[in-house]
Amino acid sequence: MRNGGSNHPSPLGFSTRAVWSGQEACPATGATIVPVYQTATFTLPEIGVTKGFDYSRTVNPTRCAMERQLAALEGGTFASAFASGMAAVAGATSLLSCGDHIIATRDIYGGTHRLFTTVLSRYGIDVTFVDTSNACETWAAARPNTRLLWLETPSNPLLRLCDLEALARLRPAGTLIVADNTFASPFLQQPLALGADMVVHSTTKYIGGHSDVIGGAVITNDREIAEQVAYHQNCVGAVPGPWDAYLTMRGAKTLGLRMRAHSRNAQVIAEFLAGRGDVAEVHYPGLAAHPQHELAKRQMSGFGGIVSFRPKGGPERARAIATSTSIFALAVSLGGVESLICSPARMTHGSLTPQQRAQLDITDDLLRLSVGIEEVEDLVADLASALDSVPGHG
Ligand SMILES: *Cc1c(COP(=O)(O)O)cnc(C)c1O
Repeated sequence: MRNGGSNHPSPLGFSTRAVWSGQEACPATGATIVPVYQTATFTLPEIGVTKGFDYSRTVNPTRCAMERQLAALEGGTFASAFASGMAAVAGATSLLSCGDHIIATRDIYGGTHRLFTTVLSRYGIDVTFVDTSNACETWAAARPNTRLLWLETPSNPLLRLCDLEALARLRPAGTLIVADNTFASPFLQQPLALGADMVVHSTTKYIGGHSDVIGGAVITNDREIAEQVAYHQNCVGAVPGPWDAYLTMRGAKTLGLRMRAHSRNAQVIAEFLAGRGDVAEVHYPGLAAHPQHELAKRQMSGFGGIVSFRPKGGPERARAIATSTSIFALAVSLGGVESLICSPARMTHGSLTPQQRAQLDITDDLLRLSVGIEEVEDLVADLASALDSVPGHG
């Protein structure tokens, strides 16, 4: 696999790309693994001549390797890496101008909601939140100045889906579609192939995969879009350092292995919870009872590692369960190898008003699991013991 597989005759499979894309051996030393180029500046052979690098805000070899790897994972041509998922969201919205309008999934990530409603609004950019699970209703919100449709599927924390292919097919001329693919990961879902113009990631989650590094990326096949995002990346400078790029690249190599394990474990846990008499509701696209199970089967190659549920017994019981597990750690974030539990109403969505939470069906008794890759028997036993320690009524 010389040259990162670039001279291989047939299209390479996902994990081959994850391990090799963009990660050629160092031409100077032969180092097999991309080195951490911990340097701010690069010595020039001559005035006006570079070896492709001059200053690390603009380009850094470790970051470039990660960008090529991430582009390859999404089936994209261009990627720009950012210091966080939110910086990547801001990078994608840098294509907008004063007077533009965004349509966005109602239950998008809280930080994205905040950026749209409190920052972009001050620059004269309007946003309308809609139920994007309905493609006709979504585009009915379009105005002459609608420039962007911002999608999250599956959504957080209730795992609602939208039909990427249908939304792309029905789009009015002149609108761009952005999919925040953080929850699914490129292993399970590839929005560019379904018609999206840009994919945004918080690489902090599944791509990094070990809860040890914050990062983000914007990926596209459109050269003009890529140039604008890269311009913003250099102009604003919210770039990841070489160590963060290295850690993210290392994590991403095992994305395929991990997503299979996350999905397998989450399916077992969702079925376990659905079979309990003391659990009122389970949300997981892999359950036949999920209202969009058929869409999930069509659009995704697996159902992912996030499960949310409402135990019977109200918010007090939910709170007690969340603090009674011994393996699942009580923490925000998701997508790492370790299992986490959280109360969206009090944690990830705590900054929303009670009315906003009610509109999104984020009740005080809802719990969200980020199912890790531990042995599933241990995870089920941990949840069973937490549920049993606080008996549910009904
Ligand atoms: C975490 C997250 C973000 C923001 O990413 P950061 O790395 O925390 O800045 C954006 N979108 C989704 C879906 C997320 O889960």
